[in-house]
Amino acid sequence: MSERVIIFDTTLRDGEQSPGCSMTVPEKVRMARKLVELGADILEAGFPIASEGDFEAVQAVSREFPEARVAGLARCCAMDVERAVEALEPARQPRLHTFIATSDIHLKYKLRKTRQQVLEEAVKAVELARRHVDDVEFSAEDGARTDVEFLIEISKAVVAAGAGTVNIPDTVGYSTPKEYGELIGKVARALGSTAIVSVHCHDDLGLAVANSLTAIEAGARQVECTINGIGERAGNCSLEEVVMILKTRSDSYPYYTGIHTEHLYAASELLSSIITFGPQPNKAIVGANAFAHEAGIHQDGYLKEKTTYEIIDPRTVGIPEGKLVLGKHSGRHALHQRARNLGYELDREQLDALYHRFTAVADQRKKGLMDKEIEALIRDCPAAKTAAAG
Ligand code: MN
Repeated sequence: MSERVIIFDTTLRDGEQSPGCSMTVPEKVRMARKLVELGADILEAGFPIASEGDFEAVQAVSREFPEARVAGLARCCAMDVERAVEALEPARQPRLHTFIATSDIHLKYKLRKTRQQVLEEAVKAVELARRHVDDVEFSAEDGARTDVEFLIEISKAVVAAGAGTVNIPDTVGYSTPKEYGELIGKVARALGSTAIVSVHCHDDLGLAVANSLTAIEAGARQVECTINGIGERAGNCSLEEVVMILKTRSDSYPYYTGIHTEHLYAASELLSSIITFGPQPNKAIVGANAFAHEAGIHQDGYLKEKTTYEIIDPRTVGIPEGKLVLGKHSGRHALHQRARNLGYELDREQLDALYHRFTAVADQRKKGLMDKEIEALIRDCPAAKTAAAG
């Protein structure tokens, strides 16, 4: 039987705090609307103590989407927790997310605290948070590099103090699937059914999605992720990738999410229009080339039977047909088909003329042609124009 995995979106928090990704409060609200539509279970909207803007963003998202589960981040101290509680006040299902570093390297150089001090501060923060909200998540920052015995000790202590979710982040993107899966398995077995184990992976070694998947197999039931994989440094686990892996390979992964995948492309596009960059063209699921079949042989096979070269129907993730690129390696068959999809019925002579123009343009450039450009070529072609008019 398939088990549900909670999607905790942190596009508006971890994503937003990376270079080139700053968002204003109205922009966060616009993005939040799309994330709600997408079906993200929890929206982390900001870190209220960090700035006035972050406070306002958490408050605005809580106010605009009272039915959504909105999270606010706080370090394990009273000032942070109280500020986050205040920002979350309009939310009907607020989640308070409190964190403290637990690895020896962070304790020694950053916090200059002992394990005992960190454990006490974590418990105190969770207890304080629970006096205000029912839903509290604790994160052991740099969890992947934390001694497993201490990680289990602090996890049990915060759960006893009232945390319902324990997040074990790979804050620096250092872990590997095998190692991370084993760690998550140990924590999940230690906590049993007392709490949900969550993961938060960074992509410094390109393993954020793979690590998140092995963590799910090891017992994690919440994944923290972002649209387009944005986030600190190399970014976070990509929401669209982890969701589409579970959906496409449900034969290997008996898990499901509440994501309405047909909104994935629109969410990616909206984010790209708000921040300063979009996904790279060869980005899985949402990149411009993710569903482009340019080579003639691939296109020929694809047009005869899509599944020859396509493992996901682009409509599943909401990619409009007009986004599919035709390039200089595309064959006559593909061009004919595309013209037909655009509403132009071409005879052999007209297709020859169009194909000649098309290859001349496509040869000149490294990028393929979008539908709008193909349509312009058809209109420029006198013979085809008659056909279109007829
Ligand atoms: Mn992070």
